[in-house]
Amino acid sequence: MSFPSPNLHTDPAQFPGLDVYVVAGNPIAHSKSPQIHQEFAKQAKQNMHYGLLLAQLGEFEATAEKFFAAGGKGMSVTVPFKLDAQAFADALTSRAKLAGAVNTLYLVGEQIFGDNTDGAGLVRDLLAQGLKLHSARILLLGAGGAARGVMGPLLEQSPKCLVIANRSSTKAEELVKLFAQPASDYEVALEARTLIDLEDLVKTPYPFDVVINATAAGLSDESPLSDLAAANIFTPQSFAYDMVYGKVTAMMQQALHRGARVSDGLGMLVEQAADAFLIWRGADLSKSIQPRAVLAKLRNS
Ligand code: NDP
Repeated sequence: MSFPSPNLHTDPAQFPGLDVYVVAGNPIAHSKSPQIHQEFAKQAKQNMHYGLLLAQLGEFEATAEKFFAAGGKGMSVTVPFKLDAQAFADALTSRAKLAGAVNTLYLVGEQIFGDNTDGAGLVRDLLAQGLKLHSARILLLGAGGAARGVMGPLLEQSPKCLVIANRSSTKAEELVKLFAQPASDYEVALEARTLIDLEDLVKTPYPFDVVINATAAGLSDESPLSDLAAANIFTPQSFAYDMVYGKVTAMMQQALHRGARVSDGLGMLVEQAADAFLIWRGADLSKSIQPRAVLAKLRNS
């Protein structure tokens, strides 16, 4: 069954009596967030509107200010504005501070709060797919905004180790320093590698249970892993997750070739949206929404 096409308007004045939410990004036309939030609203019987807001580059602050001044209730924020949204918020949740980026803006009285639900969304999607993260060996590919955003929630699962591998070692090492305290709190061996290190069995002498691609390589049909690195990393017991969604990426193909299970990042998108929905509409609705049903419907649409 396909989704009804969303009404994409975003000016709250056009929806008297309705709470209006948007996803802001550039580009934004491809976003699945309106379908996801409209499904949640239907499930939880919420009278609200959710639209798409194209913000021009360099104009996020002015666009967000205008939206909230016109009565907008909340905003999802996507590429490339997550740092702008962090700067825009009057206050940040602790996980948004740790993530260094904001993907959800919400009102508390007159104040605009910034949160980051990406990491919680990823972890819930992994657990929903039957993965055991406690004591797992996890490899996180990439050290950009998406990688940083998921590190806190991954560490909270107390994996055996979390190895961050990036093209440039400096960024991976910076993340290791930044998350040293939570890694110690949850007794996780947190280590940095370059992508080339993964080819060397002396530097990385074991395969991984869970490999998460948080690089942007999947968007351009590339894998961050060489075939040699993939041969070292994946076993048939591994699980390979690409945050990019809507296709079998080159990294997923390498994993499939070695008999591993794979997933794209659509479940993460739905689960992070579920958290944002509950922040906006009330945590008491958590039993009323069914993110896995929304995910199944999206996959079939
Ligand atoms: P950033 O631009 O902040 O970081 C990009 C990262 O990818 C860097 O670590 C960069 O390495 C690396 N990279 C880029 N191209 C390549 C390549 N060809 N080979 C190896 N490494 C590469 O982007 P984000 O972190 O914000 O986003 C990363 C991906 O995650 C995007 O594809 C985005 O769509 C996806 N995402 C999905 C979400 C979901 O809900 N499913 C949520 C958030 C993000 P270097 O430092 O060396 O340049």
